[in-house]
Amino acid sequence: MHTESPSHSLDLVDQARRRASDPLPSAFQGVDIPRHGDIINCMHCGLCLPHCPTYTLTGEEKHSPRGRIRLIKTIAEGGLEITPGFVESMHFCLLCRACETACPAGVKYGELAEAARAQIEISGVLRSRKRSILRALLLRGLLTRPRLLRVVARLLWINQWTFQALARRTGLMRLMPRRLRELDALAPRIPGRFTRAMVPETVRPEGKPRCRVGLLQGCLADVVYPELNHDAMQVLRHHGCEVVMPRGQTCCGSLLGHNGELEAARRQARRLIEVFERAEVDWLVITTAGCGSFIREYGHLLSGDPDWAERARALAQRVRDISEILVELGPRVPTVPIHRRLTYHEACHLRHGQGIAEPPRQLLALIPGLEIVELPESSWCCGSAGIYNITNTDDAEQLLERKMKNIVSTGADLIATGNPGCMGQIQHGCRSRGLALDVVHPITLLRESYGLPGPPSGLLGRPRRPLFAQGHGGLGAT
Ligand code: SF4
Ligand code: SF4
Repeated sequence: MHTESPSHSLDLVDQARRRASDPLPSAFQGVDIPRHGDIINCMHCGLCLPHCPTYTLTGEEKHSPRGRIRLIKTIAEGGLEITPGFVESMHFCLLCRACETACPAGVKYGELAEAARAQIEISGVLRSRKRSILRALLLRGLLTRPRLLRVVARLLWINQWTFQALARRTGLMRLMPRRLRELDALAPRIPGRFTRAMVPETVRPEGKPRCRVGLLQGCLADVVYPELNHDAMQVLRHHGCEVVMPRGQTCCGSLLGHNGELEAARRQARRLIEVFERAEVDWLVITTAGCGSFIREYGHLLSGDPDWAERARALAQRVRDISEILVELGPRVPTVPIHRRLTYHEACHLRHGQGIAEPPRQLLALIPGLEIVELPESSWCCGSAGIYNITNTDDAEQLLERKMKNIVSTGADLIATGNPGCMGQIQHGCRSRGLALDVVHPITLLRESYGLPGPPSGLLGRPRRPLFAQGHGGLGAT
């Protein structure tokens, strides 16, 4: 259960009531102010409440979308200051945006929450100091520096094969502080190769290309799941696309933006826009739902910047999730069977952030041999939510527990999901419960079922053998 320190336990609504007779000027300032129009769109009907994971966890109005919007409104009208309680409530939110899907009034909760978090950053009112340091290290220290991120990932890889392996085998890990053990359990396995060692900058199909697509490299995906970039390139090429993954890509800014660092997110966005303008692509294809959802909103992010607003809108309109573009292109029929029982978890930023529900299911349904079982509460957040599982580990674990129970109830031995963050969280859920289930991105299953070569692995860089498909016609076929 979510808890607050005594200083956070001020009843925020009471505080607002006390101030109502003596209203203050709004505590919001600068350019990233929650928009009045969005705030008043909320008619307080409460239809979003049963869809909100944090309200379901606590039963408290201030941890519901309606409660949070009411708090934002009260602050905007000068009835309340930005307090530690408000900060806690806004950062307890997963930004999963399930409330937006449920809302009949079309309230743009995500934009309101991001602006509110930006105001929190400006106000300097801190939540837990430890969490703030962790967040600053991850967001500003690492994610905006791809080279440094690769160096740190390489060090992690060495650590995982040496000290960590030894500590686990000898039981030394059990003697470590609790927080270190938690972080160790959450850390995904780092692969031996990153994206650049797996794929060239450009691949061309045989014959005349149907279109030229750019592929987003991703920051964490690059060092944790680089095979996704390889698999997406292979499958797009198989569909007649020329695929370019321009060098010099940076983080798209999504994790910064979701955590209220909107100015830093704008800097990242401008760099990425330039990179893909130079690459002259017809589409920008994305395998990571969180990034896709954020780049689609570049137009809003840069709407106040006359030099960039139009360029941001133009790139946002070209964004396609990998599943979406394959369905639009008309997917080729995969032929190599995969005899597994599969269930599909909907990433929040695919389902709620981008409204994409059917394309991944349509593609998975094409794979011969696959038995697909619908996952109960498939779009309920798994607790990953960007860096939420690192900053709010206990709350994230409760959400993961619910997700894992639903997964187990399907009897599936394979789980597909279109977001690397969810893949890592559910893999952690399987590992920590001793469940021998595989977690995979739909694009990897498709690549295998098309009989396309796997990503290079090992010292010699031989294509990886199929992990899921049987009766594969031979490695190296294209
Ligand atoms: S956010 Fe939408 S669903 Fe929720 S209370 Fe407001 S209007 Fe109703
Ligand atoms: S984004 Fe998710 S956690 Fe936040 S208020 Fe909406 S439904 Fe609740």
